[in-house]
Amino acid sequence: MIHFVGAGCGAADLITVRGQRLIEEADVIVYAGSLVNPALLDKRKDGARVYNSAEMTLEEVLSVLFDAEEKGLTTVRLHTGDPCLYGAIREQMDALEARGVLYDYTPGVSSFCGVAAALNMEYTLPNVSQSVVITRMAGRTPVPERESVRAFAAHKATMVLFLSTGLLTKTQEELIAGGYDPETPAAIVYKASWPDEKTALCTVGSLADCARENDIKKTALIIVGDAVKQSGYARSELYNPTFSTGFRKAKE
Ligand code: SAH
Repeated sequence: MIHFVGAGCGAADLITVRGQRLIEEADVIVYAGSLVNPALLDKRKDGARVYNSAEMTLEEVLSVLFDAEEKGLTTVRLHTGDPCLYGAIREQMDALEARGVLYDYTPGVSSFCGVAAALNMEYTLPNVSQSVVITRMAGRTPVPERESVRAFAAHKATMVLFLSTGLLTKTQEELIAGGYDPETPAAIVYKASWPDEKTALCTVGSLADCARENDIKKTALIIVGDAVKQSGYARSELYNPTFSTGFRKAKE
């Protein structure tokens, strides 16, 4: 059995209870060493074999998974954050299915959640923004034209940009060309929940300068939109005393 597990975005105690238990029980662990906190491996069984997928190809990872399966071992495939975002997990699941290998999937705390926590931020503020666009600038992996940062910018919703910290001059040009005012608030968060976490508040027009001043070049998320200011919002209807819900009657 193969268990895909989201490791969370950094701090070793941000993994789920289930994910932690699966690590403790695993005979083989293949972890994404570029971004998974190695402290998560401390609780592994004596004799558990550990592989760092940052140094491996897909074929090499699959060969470790298949080999473990043939020996009847239990494997954890540990991905950074939650595997559903930029996790390259589908190609592994398809290869396992093609061989009839059973697997399951335990989610994790994605970095877009860890970053909100680092900023004490609610992305979806009433009357400010009710949507979060999660995207990236095109790099070696292309982004479909209809999903370009410029196209999404027209919505002026809260935007979370993965994998784009090395392209900030172009990113800010695209955000502004698409519709955000250059003065729109923005934030850069480096290594959310790690001991060396850094947060920097700026504006869309100063993203590249801000990253340079704070010496942030990678492992960061860019958050853009009026919600970054965390003000000017309307209070929630759910907790409004004049509003009835399935659990609470409105107060007269
Ligand atoms: N599946 C992961 C994302 C993998 S892509 C998740 O759910 O978070 C890797 C990118 O995620 C990095 O280049 C960076 O943009 C972002 N990232 C991962 N961990 C991060 C962290 N702790 N703080 C800020 N950004 C992070």
